[in-house]
Parts: sequence; structure tokens; C-alpha cells
Amino acid sequence: MQDILKNYIDGQWLLSPGGKTFANENPARKGEILNYAQASEPEEITLAVDAASAAFLNWKTFPVEERQRLVGEFLRLLAQAKDELAVAVSKENGKTLTEARAEVDSALLEGGYHQRQISAFAGNAVRNDKCSLAWEDYHPLGVVGIISPWNYPVNVMCRKTLPALLTGNTIVFKPASFTPWSAVMMARLFEKAGFPAGVFNCVTGMGSSVGNALIADSRIKAISFTGSTAVGKKILSAAGANLVRTQLELGGKNAMIVMNDADLDGAVDATVKAGFGCAGQWCTSTSRVLLQRDIAGAYLEKLAERCRAIRIGDPLDSAVDMGPVAGPGQFKTITTAIERAQRDGAQMLCGDAAAQSGGYFIKPTVFTGVTPDMAIFSEEIFGPVLAVCEFDTLPEALDLTNNSVYGLSSAIFTRDLTNAQRYIDAIDTGMAHVNIHSGFKIPEMPFGGWKESGFGLPENSRSGLEFFVNRKAVYWKGI
Ligand code: NAD
Repeated sequence: MQDILKNYIDGQWLLSPGGKTFANENPARKGEILNYAQASEPEEITLAVDAASAAFLNWKTFPVEERQRLVGEFLRLLAQAKDELAVAVSKENGKTLTEARAEVDSALLEGGYHQRQISAFAGNAVRNDKCSLAWEDYHPLGVVGIISPWNYPVNVMCRKTLPALLTGNTIVFKPASFTPWSAVMMARLFEKAGFPAGVFNCVTGMGSSVGNALIADSRIKAISFTGSTAVGKKILSAAGANLVRTQLELGGKNAMIVMNDADLDGAVDATVKAGFGCAGQWCTSTSRVLLQRDIAGAYLEKLAERCRAIRIGDPLDSAVDMGPVAGPGQFKTITTAIERAQRDGAQMLCGDAAAQSGGYFIKPTVFTGVTPDMAIFSEEIFGPVLAVCEFDTLPEALDLTNNSVYGLSSAIFTRDLTNAQRYIDAIDTGMAHVNIHSGFKIPEMPFGGWKESGFGLPENSRSGLEFFVNRKAVYWKGI
């Protein structure tokens, strides 16, 4: 009998009164059920918001040092639970154990950054001759709704939750329905760390039911969401009705430009890492590769050789480089996009659905001869599939890169400083990389997209905390 994962509401572990659950399937072994999670009803969101509203009255008065101490305890427990959590992520999401451990490390790095940063988180102060001093005071918002995707279930959730808690907000968290196990494990860590009841609540279930209920509750003061652009737009319009602040981290179609003067081996390494890491299911994955014509042949030869060497299989096996995609829905979307690209006339250099039929495996797939009118050039696939185009000049490459509704991340490989500077000035993406793959990030830098890739203040950096506070301008005149 598999575990039944419960909701965590007001410090208690609860089954959904409706009695409905959903199965959490291992994508590497079709039909293997890892556990069952609560298919909660909107009423449980109401209960969680009740609890978070009551807890806010006390939590907002906690000294910042006490909030830091509790977040520090959570991070200590997270580090201790790293291996166990990595196994859960690997089993329910399909990324390799190494990738899952790296995800927990990234959550620890960012969490530690915010925990230290809050000590010096104060607004501007100015002197003025009409009042002796004026300054910005920061106040928590209240109850915050956090909705996360399945691709980085630990890292994305922590990147939102920890800054929200450090700034004095309380949380109702709705994880993605593909990854309830790691979510519930993290809820246990919040409980163990000693957060007061109601400060952190976790309700599992479908986006269309509990996700909708969360964004419709007028007591929610902000929504921090990561997921697809389509759902992000729905959230924005629902939040707009109540003037609720939103932070939306959305889809992407990230391009990497390789110039004739690039370090080709470095560029191929970066493509393999950002194109096929986590089976291409990171928001900042490289999914378009633009090659300057003279090096295209040499680059593709090296890339095809590297792709064929990628070992696919059970992500818990340390000899495996790439696990399955996250589930049947992802598998169908990706294989449909591959078929469409073939019909549209792109040439498959390597790839396709893998031979192992036991799980949702897809081989690293590379299409050449892609033109901007093909769906594979413009639509987010979110899988191990690369669209390759060739170009003659840098302005042409920049136009191709910016020819997208998305603007999340991008990269250029070149040894020429003028090329690099032109790229930085012209590129319409929230993250720009020179000689580094498109998925690279550090917590000190903003993490967010332009155009249809993001809305509201980015995560990480100073804005990661700023999103969760109200500002008050204080004017002070001594008597
Ligand atoms: P998704 O939009 O399908 O789901 C994201 C979350 O929203 C899930 O928890 C889901 O249950 C919930 N949801 C679905 N419908 C909802 C509704 N009507 N109301 C409220 N919540 C609802 O996305 P996904 O498939 O989980 O994740 C993949 C997508 O996420 C990709 O587009 C990827 O690019 C994007 N992503 C972006 C970033 C970023 O930082 N920009 C990071 C990771 C993933």
C-alpha cells in the first residue's frame, strides 16, 4: 500500500473531506504509483487562508532575527534531508539523482542568500530641508499564494516561500500535481523547523480546482506563480479583478548564438548542458541554436556525437545522464512537436522517442534547417529538442533571437568583445549570457523574463524580497 500524502493546514496533517486522491506516477516506470496525494476541494483553500490570516497577526510581529532563525533551521533540515528529497524528486519528476541533488543545493544557496540579505533590507533614507528625514518603511503584505511548477519543485518553491516568510508574510502553497511528494516533504521540514501553526500551509490538488480557488480568494494579497504563460495570463486577469500583486515567471524559447570565432567545444558543452539537462525541462533551457554559417558543420558534427553518447534510463541509476520527461502529458506534447517539425520540413540530425518503452523517455533530438515560420522555432516545447538555424551576420542573429513572444534567457558564444557588447545591448531577454549557458544563474542577480516570459518583480536579487512588502514613505520632522 503506497503512502497517502496529506495536506498541511494550520499545523495539522489533514485528509481531504471529499476523500478524493490522485496517483503520483513514476515517469521512468509507467504504471508504478509512488504515492497518492489529496485531490483537495476549494473549501480546503478557504481553510488554509483562514489559518494563514490568523497566523499573520502574530507572525508579522516576530523580530526579523527570529524569522531568520526559523528559516535557518529550515535550511539546516533541508541540507540534512538532501539525499532523501533528491530521491523523491528524481522518482516523481524524472530528473537524474545528480540533477535533483543540484536542485536542492541551488535552493540552499538562494535560501542562505535571502536569509543573510534580510538583515540589511531597509529602504532609502534622505535628508530634506522641509522635514529632517524621510525614509521608506517596509511592511509585509499578509497572506501570499504560492503556485509552483513540477520542473524544479524544491528550488522554485523555496525561491518564493523563503523571501515571503523572511519579510513577515504567511503562505498558502499549491504545488504542481506531478510533484506532490517533494512538496509534502518540504511541508514536514517547515513543521519540524518550528514555524508557528498557520504560517506555512500546503494544499495539493489540481490547478483548475484549488489553484483557481487560491487566486479567487480576496484575502490573498499577492500571488507568486511559476508555470506556463497560458496559466500565467489567467492568473493575471483573476488577480487584476482584486488588484492583487502578481509575480509571474513564465515560459521561454531561449536561444544560443554561436559566432564563427567561438570556442566550439565550450559552445557544444553549453548546448548539451542547457539543452538536455533535466531532459530539456528547465525554463532557461536552450531550445534554439543559431549558428554562424562557417562553423555550422563543425559544430553540428560535435553536437551529434555528444547527443548520441547521452545515456538514457532510470534517473536513479548513476550511469544514466538523462531520465524520462515528467509524464504522459509532457511526452505527448513533445512527440507531437517532433512530428510537426518533420512535417514542416526540418531535418532531424538525431533523436526521436527512445526505444525504452517502460517510461516516458525521449532521445536528445536536434532539428537543422529550421526557419522562423516553423512551429518548432517559436513554440515552447519544454523537452530535449533543439531547433537549429544558420545566419550570416550578428544583426541577423539578434533579430532571429528577438523574434519571439518570449524573453526569458539567451546566450552568445564569441571571443569578440564588440559582438558581446552588441548582443548585451540588443537582446530582449531578462537574462543574457556571454560564453556561459542560458541556464546559469546566481542568487544576487534578478531571475525573471521579459515579454511573455514574466510579469511583476523578478525573483532572487533584492527584488526577490521587495515583491513581498508594502512600502510606506515616512516623513519625519524633529520638534
Ligand atoms: P502549468 O502552468 O501547467 O502549471 C503551473 C502551476 O499552476 C501548477 O501548480 C498547476 O497546477 C497550476 N495551475 C494550473 N492551472 C491553474 C489555474 N487555472 N489556476 C491556478 N493555478 C493553476 O506549468 P507546468 O507544466 O507545471 O510547468 C511548465 C511551465 O513552467 C513551462 O512553460 C516553463 O517554461 C514554466 N517555467 C517557468 C519558469 C520561470 O522561472 N520563468 C521556471 C520553471 C518553469
